[in-house]
Amino acid sequence: MATQVTGDGGAGRRGFSTRQLHERAAGAAPTARATPIYLTAGFEFDEYEQAAAHFGEGRGYAYTRIGNPTVEAVEHTLAALEGGSQALLLSSGQAATSVALLSLLESGQHVVSSTHIYEGTRGLLRDNLSRLGIGTTFIDDIDDVDAWEAAIRPETRALFAESISNAANRLVDIPALSDVARRHGIPLVIDNTFATPYLVRPIEQGADVVVHSASKFLAGHGSVLGGAIVDSGRFDAERSGHLFPHLIAPGRGGLPSIAERTGGDARIAYARESVAPRLGPTPSPLNAFLIGQGIETLSLRVERQSANALAVAQWLDGRPEVASVDYVGLTTHPDHALAGALLPDGFGSVFSFTLRADGDGDAAGTARRFVEALEVFTHMTHLGDVRSLVLHPASTSHAFLSPDERAALGVHDGTLRVSIGIEDVTDLIGDLAQALSVAADVGVAVVA
Ligand SMILES: *Cc1c(COP(=O)(O)O)cnc(C)c1O
Repeated sequence: MATQVTGDGGAGRRGFSTRQLHERAAGAAPTARATPIYLTAGFEFDEYEQAAAHFGEGRGYAYTRIGNPTVEAVEHTLAALEGGSQALLLSSGQAATSVALLSLLESGQHVVSSTHIYEGTRGLLRDNLSRLGIGTTFIDDIDDVDAWEAAIRPETRALFAESISNAANRLVDIPALSDVARRHGIPLVIDNTFATPYLVRPIEQGADVVVHSASKFLAGHGSVLGGAIVDSGRFDAERSGHLFPHLIAPGRGGLPSIAERTGGDARIAYARESVAPRLGPTPSPLNAFLIGQGIETLSLRVERQSANALAVAQWLDGRPEVASVDYVGLTTHPDHALAGALLPDGFGSVFSFTLRADGDGDAAGTARRFVEALEVFTHMTHLGDVRSLVLHPASTSHAFLSPDERAALGVHDGTLRVSIGIEDVTDLIGDLAQALSVAADVGVAVVA
């Protein structure tokens, strides 16, 4: 078949297959107001020397696993919102926690962690990092700062907690815990997923590293997964260098150490240069764009979600079918006083409540009927969505714990976890009310 010739001279004489690959508009990029999506595996070197400059000094873009403008735009915003110096975007929250911890810890070392953490993180610590020779001590009473300090060993290299925890809405006293961490020269790592930087900025309260599941509130619409690490930029090589020799050791070929090159950013620079690109949990630039777009409305969503959640929690608290409501916004919650200091702008929107057992004493059956009767709430395992969601932890996220372990975390047979969305709150309360009456209406009396 004859090759079609177009009017542009040289390039147009090339074959169809060549042209379908190489014909593209040239010219300067216009200034888009929305973040452009650089959905590309790699970047052309415009000048021959750029290639060597990139591989030598890390300048410019070459390959999306190493750097991408869409991803970096989101990192820039997140670092600014958290009050950190730099952020690193990753493919999921699990990737963020894994990369953050593996950037600090090596075989033979140790983490002190809150017991009240996401089940995926607990699994990472208990089943995966343990196999790499990294041990964890879990602290049950997370308000007991002395217990945290007592658990620190010579080989401890991180303290880990969540700002607001699943399932019992426990708060960790970040300023008190960061004092402990600082005394020992080790970082306090906070998973800030439930709070978001709109409600809590752990770095401003003394934490050193923040991790996020961006799949939740940051993206906000339940469409993509993502994760992030934000660092305070306060790594102190004088004080802590001997504990983190990989950050102060000379680079290959006698080059300056990472701390000499990047100063207080040594931790996140190591994560960006040596851990994330090797383990490979790179976010898609398209997902990065959607996370960035979600972040643009974060405050509006979180404000509305927190207001709705407080109204829903207060309503549930007054219902005879409900045994308890674990919402830190309620004055009856054990951490409510701490919330006044730590959460001035709202109490978040993910919490649990426990239904009383029906006349047969079957709380799990009551919970099941309740979930099946809900119409506005979506039954799924996710949180931080614009839509309201419900899950029964005892048969799902916490099914593999013993009943005693579940009870210690506030997960009982009748416990339901909700993530409150931005719907009209009267519709949410109406939905809960009709589901409570369906759940109770099985010909047996609800035990008051
Ligand atoms: C969901 C979640 C994670 C894990 O994030 P993924 O994006 O699902 O990998 C970690 N921590 C908390 C608190 C979470 O809610």
